[in-house]
Amino acid sequence: MSNRRSTIYGLRRSAGLAALLSLKLAAGLAFAQQAPPRDPAEPPPGKPQVKSLPRPASAIRRQSIDEKSMRTLIHSLVSCGTRLTLSSWSDPKRGIGCGRDAIVARLNDIAKDSGGKLQVVVDRFESTSERTSGKPIPLENVYAMLPGADPTLSKTLFIVSGHFDSRPSNVMDPEADAPGADDDASGAAVSVECARLLSKASAKSSGYRATILFATVSGEEQGLLGSTHLVDWVKQQGYTVGGMLDDDIVGADPTPGGPHRVRLFSGNGEIDDCDAPARELARAIEEIDGRNAIRLIFRQDRYGRGGDHYPFYKAGLPAVRFTEPLEDYHHQHQTPRTEDGAEYGDFEKYLNYPFMGNVARDNAEVLRQLAMAPAPPSKALLKGAVTPDAKVSWAAEPDRERAGFEVLWRETTDPRWHVYEFVVEPGEAILQGVSTDNHFFAVRSVGKNGARSIAVPTEMERRTPPGPAKQ
Ligand SMILES: [Zn+2]
Repeated sequence: MSNRRSTIYGLRRSAGLAALLSLKLAAGLAFAQQAPPRDPAEPPPGKPQVKSLPRPASAIRRQSIDEKSMRTLIHSLVSCGTRLTLSSWSDPKRGIGCGRDAIVARLNDIAKDSGGKLQVVVDRFESTSERTSGKPIPLENVYAMLPGADPTLSKTLFIVSGHFDSRPSNVMDPEADAPGADDDASGAAVSVECARLLSKASAKSSGYRATILFATVSGEEQGLLGSTHLVDWVKQQGYTVGGMLDDDIVGADPTPGGPHRVRLFSGNGEIDDCDAPARELARAIEEIDGRNAIRLIFRQDRYGRGGDHYPFYKAGLPAVRFTEPLEDYHHQHQTPRTEDGAEYGDFEKYLNYPFMGNVARDNAEVLRQLAMAPAPPSKALLKGAVTPDAKVSWAAEPDRERAGFEVLWRETTDPRWHVYEFVVEPGEAILQGVSTDNHFFAVRSVGKNGARSIAVPTEMERRTPPGPAKQ
């Protein structure tokens, strides 16, 4: 902690304050602070309204989604019979190798239209788990990489991922049929469609600032083996993970009244007043796509289930999971059969392309905006305990494309951030008349193009209150 405090000391405090003051003068508008009834107003009335840059123009339109190609890719994957990771990697007609071939072929087609920017990589490795009988088995992940155009951000990676392996009822049986249309050919199709949308857009422009990785991985059903390997691969390649979107079971919306919102699962981390990067990524996604598209679920994953975001989340990285609104367990992890009149199996006929297309659009738009954004600030700290004013400080590298920072706050019971203040320079913002204790605080970077980084919540030095002397 002492390290962190000394780093923050000496930041451009005066520049930050000057910006704060000039902004207040420039805005000159009454701040419509909505004080909850029967609580004192914080800050006191008269705070100017915040200037807010509009979000980046040219959002990806729903009509741009190529549902037909998503359908074709899913059909090719299902036609492989099974894509259990323990099945054949070399048989072109049946097994997981057939699935890999379908994805590589589609990505190679997409890469042709990217002006040479999209790079397709097959990553071969070995891994082991209880679900490989403790023996090392061969695995492959398929990546398409769209390199970032800004040297300061090209080593920051935004990832979208789905798994292309599937499973029958018995996760060790490489022979049984395992169509895996929804789990997770749907997620693989979303990742590949994002590659098409963003590489196409990038071919016509100067490109995105950060690098985007469109991943399809194997080994999920054998114990998250492909994504666990991906965490290491990304590190070995020298990348920092800016955000990881796991799409798993995103293809069906069988209940009447749809299209419904996709669920977005995020873990809260281990500190009770400072959410994990995963939670901040989830909030950023909801802001980008809107509350009509995203249903935030403040939980790491569904009970009793796992997903490829988990190894990233455990590593402290911003990683979340998209999953359809309500799952039908007859259609997941089931060997195809009819039993007591009920049909089991993960078939294409249960998929809902209008819904899946929405999920693809929402993923692509999030990747687009985050890859255009400045780097998030660092060393976000809260000071001012036992004083009338909260003091929020942060650091950031120089960035000519950045307009400034938004200081965010929320009621401790409010799931979402609100903008308290816009500040041009890194340093310290004094929130006059705002208690450190009644709200949570965070900071995020704002680009001149309107793209926001994910928020970085402030940390407060923790001191245990005095207690009885130790015996
Ligand atoms: Zn899955």
